[in-house]
Amino acid sequence: TIVTRFAPSPTGYLHIGGARTALFNWLYARGRGGKFLLRIEDTDRARSTPEATEAILQGLTWLGLDWDGEPVSQFERRDRHAEVAREMLARGGAYRCFSTTDEIAAWREAHPREPFVSPWRDADPDSFPDAPFAIRLRAPRDGETVIHDAVQGDVTVANDQLDDLILLRSDGTPTYMLAVVVDDHDMGVTHVIRGDDHLTNTARQIQVYQAMDWPLPSFAHIPLIHGEDGKKLSKRHGAVGLHEFAALGYPPEAMRNYLARLGWSHGDDELFDDAQARDWFDLSGVGRAPARLDFKKLEHVSSHHIGGMDSNRLMAALDDFLQASGQPVLSDLQRDRIVASSEVLREKAKTLPQLLDQARFAMIERPVEVDEKALKALDPAGLDMLGTLTAAVQNVSWSREELEASAQAVASDKGVGLGKIAAPLRAALAGRTSTPSVFDMMMALGRDETLARLRDQTK
Ligand code: GLU
Repeated sequence: TIVTRFAPSPTGYLHIGGARTALFNWLYARGRGGKFLLRIEDTDRARSTPEATEAILQGLTWLGLDWDGEPVSQFERRDRHAEVAREMLARGGAYRCFSTTDEIAAWREAHPREPFVSPWRDADPDSFPDAPFAIRLRAPRDGETVIHDAVQGDVTVANDQLDDLILLRSDGTPTYMLAVVVDDHDMGVTHVIRGDDHLTNTARQIQVYQAMDWPLPSFAHIPLIHGEDGKKLSKRHGAVGLHEFAALGYPPEAMRNYLARLGWSHGDDELFDDAQARDWFDLSGVGRAPARLDFKKLEHVSSHHIGGMDSNRLMAALDDFLQASGQPVLSDLQRDRIVASSEVLREKAKTLPQLLDQARFAMIERPVEVDEKALKALDPAGLDMLGTLTAAVQNVSWSREELEASAQAVASDKGVGLGKIAAPLRAALAGRTSTPSVFDMMMALGRDETLARLRDQTK
């Protein structure tokens, strides 16, 4: 079976690029009945924090990516890493290097641009000093190492360009390069899908696999995400943390859809659901050019997914959004009104806060506070209009058709267009000028609340 993994370093929040890497691994595994594992690469004790691990897990959970089993801590596996280094030593695939950092620095100075070749590589064990040593990989000195990459094609590295990498430092701690290989092997990872900033590490990692006679996983190095200007994505471009996109109100299904398209394509398909993404996702659809983050496209994708939500999903998405942004929970009454108008609300919104903004009429309480712009419609003529309308709709059955007919009748009676009624009505019901249609609001608020809001203005 296929096994993929996401292996973040817990040094900050979940970056949008990391989220996309995780998504690709998740889609690849889930679409093939495989497993998606999580490994926290927390070997850098100075930079790793439990808060960062928590933030990453939360980010993945928000995005809807579930992983199999418990997250693996790379740091907790350090004894196993050391064991493999010693095993390699025993098989001759590695050797003891007694060179000190000063000696290595001096060597480098004398041989600029050349990979360091340890004088201990072929030294006689009888000459070993009684001193701490690092364990270095006995890498092949000639020939080449070829990475068969599913995205980049064959990438060839001349072996004499690579030095014998340190597996275990003289203080007994494993290096990152060793840890990654041992963990991927032990976790049964079959496909390593990660950012192409790791491509240069891969030749070295392949040498470690070969020294252990371990089968190689398949590699796929995906191009990084760039900003709209084509430059490497950074804070300058705005949101870069997944939590920032969540705070902007893009729902997770929209982020999954958008991120899947960031560097991967399936014909001209831009809008799709999870089942389609799982069915379609393949490494052959991953391009070699860096993908560009495009907020216009993201909004388009987001409005599509908000438009397709049923009321349950919509309310859950709103609850999550409100909670994450520290806003009060919705009351039952507010929920009922939002659900009642959800069809029109969903149609127009690109983001959840936009939807909540249009739903404000449903969330406010009487007496409705009317803003300056809307207040203009509540002049004597407007109030007169409202009075007449209040009387007219008093006894109609509360259906959209009848409400529209009543308003129409009042308008023709007074010899004005429907707009002349809609404006004061809007002001009375919502206290502002930007709202859903007045009939949608009347339907969502119901007879009692609507009439009460109208009387508040006309009494
Ligand atoms: N921990 C590495 C990172 O966060 C990923 C290493 C890998 O995927 O092999 O960039």
